[in-house]
Amino acid sequence: MKRGLLVVLSGPSGVGKGTVLKEFIDDPSLKLAYSVSLTTREKRPNEVEGVNYNFVSRDQFESAIKNGELLEYAEFVGNYYGTPLSTVNKLRDEGKNVLLEIEVQGCIQVREKCPDALTIFLVPPSMEELEKRIRGRNTEPEEIVQQRLAKANRELDMVGQYKYVVCNEDPKLAADIISIIIKRHMD
Ligand code: 5GP
Repeated sequence: MKRGLLVVLSGPSGVGKGTVLKEFIDDPSLKLAYSVSLTTREKRPNEVEGVNYNFVSRDQFESAIKNGELLEYAEFVGNYYGTPLSTVNKLRDEGKNVLLEIEVQGCIQVREKCPDALTIFLVPPSMEELEKRIRGRNTEPEEIVQQRLAKANRELDMVGQYKYVVCNEDPKLAADIISIIIKRHMD
């Protein structure tokens, strides 16, 4: 069986990665499996353990790092986020194309380990639109919103690290473009 692709989707906080992802993740022709990350961040009210993330303590996360259990990890606005290596390998061995929704530092680590990873960066139509979307989520204090905006600016400078850049003007259109990119690489 052909080993599955490793697909990395990144983009600044608030760009709408989750919304775009929902539009294509269940398309059977893409054979995608979502990699559920570990994080030390607090669970948001709408999130489900084991579906959005596996929520762990800092101690648990640090022992996963020490034991080499992570394909990549990064600290983002004061919390750890990381990708479990064994799950990714198992899914790819089963022929699934594994989708990682991760930030830029993680993508750089993935590229070092898997140079053929298919890396896609989602950009907002404008910074004003991005700020509106981050504030619209309305779940975090102003200080965190400011940190996320500053981080978004730095992340946008890293678009050159990616093979593809897709603009999220319209989530359905962005999802269609991403589907085409993935299908091309499946041939
Ligand atoms: P959020 O707190 O908004 O869910 O995620 C914050 C950032 O962490 C997002 O940019 C998201 O893509 C990134 N992220 C989520 N999971 C991982 C992961 O496993 N590794 C890395 N490096 N970043 C992640």
